[in-house]
Amino acid sequence: MEASSLSVTLAPGIGLALWLAAGPTLAEPAHTLDAPLPPRPTPDAFSAPPAPFALGDNTTLFVNFEGVQLGECNPSDSRRDCSWYNYEAPFPPFSGTVQTQVGVLQAMRSDVSEFGIRVTAQRPESGNYTMVVYGGTESEYGALGSAPAGDCDDDVPNQIAFAHLDGDLNEWVNGGATTSLHEAAHSWGLDHIDFEGSIMFPSGNNAPTYFREECDGMVEDTDLNPGQAACPELNMEHCGDPSRQNAAARLTRLFGPAYVDIEAPVVDLLEPSDGQYFQAPANFDVIFETTDDQHPQAYSVWAWLGDDARPDDESIRVDPGFSVTDLPIGTWDFHVVVADEAGNESRVDFTIEVGEDPPPDPVTEEDGCGCRTPDAPGGSGWAWWICVPVALARRRKRR
Ligand SMILES: [Zn+2]
Repeated sequence: MEASSLSVTLAPGIGLALWLAAGPTLAEPAHTLDAPLPPRPTPDAFSAPPAPFALGDNTTLFVNFEGVQLGECNPSDSRRDCSWYNYEAPFPPFSGTVQTQVGVLQAMRSDVSEFGIRVTAQRPESGNYTMVVYGGTESEYGALGSAPAGDCDDDVPNQIAFAHLDGDLNEWVNGGATTSLHEAAHSWGLDHIDFEGSIMFPSGNNAPTYFREECDGMVEDTDLNPGQAACPELNMEHCGDPSRQNAAARLTRLFGPAYVDIEAPVVDLLEPSDGQYFQAPANFDVIFETTDDQHPQAYSVWAWLGDDARPDDESIRVDPGFSVTDLPIGTWDFHVVVADEAGNESRVDFTIEVGEDPPPDPVTEEDGCGCRTPDAPGGSGWAWWICVPVALARRRKRR
């Protein structure tokens, strides 16, 4: 067994430039955040009650990039995929890259890092959650997004908001995060304010934004005319003025302090199977199914063989899978550790047998990853190669 004499080479992620290219464009003209809503119909007689919750409980914000056909209901219900508007036509899956999706999610998490808001693109199996449908284009819907407003105590915790960043804007990262949070915050009762560059300003572009921790004047339109506050009592409580809003105080009141991620990712080996036999030289893709409370995200991955020590350096990627090429005859113990962005780790161990003879049942499946491995340097030996290049998003600084 020669495992300890072979080096493991993980190719660096090459998606970083894509993320940098999609960064803030300060000269970008302002876009209107909200499309006007149709008149709200009479509430349904049937409305599924929310899961038990109280003021100050953490909430979940599910960003749906997968596309959806909404049914009709009032109030809207994320769990049942129904809404009192935008149910006429299906939302196709978001056409932007996985890198853009992860960038949007990371920017959102950075913006809500001080509040009890979990941001995920995996639909929760239970509990209450606000859903942002991330689909459709600005030109189709007349603005970057929309949402129902006025729910001051989040008494209806399963509403649906919309972010129309597909089409020409499908590489926007900061603008996607701003729109998603702006619209979700409307569904939590927050109003527009007159502070440009903040999340609740009524127009925006692809520049970074943040939730204000100060008391700002409430406005009702993009011309910044003062308007009627949705939640004057709460403004009075936080600012001593019914027409001024402190976004951070409102979000903390609703959802409590920072969401703490203590859940390790669940990493299941899909291919190859543990103990699978290959004929030398073996070439195969290692494919995992990864779930986590904040999936997808930039995972840290360590991979090594046999009795080698775990490497010091991790590689960062959205998909922990990789390809193996030209693995020689032997019994190979693979070890993979995957950590989420909060540092919670999971480990997967599996063994691969490589011999001289062909396997009894030839594997005829197509390459599941669609990636190809170039010849190893020097034309001999073997290398591991990343299937999915990953954009590692820079953490945005507040303000
Ligand atoms: Zn708005």
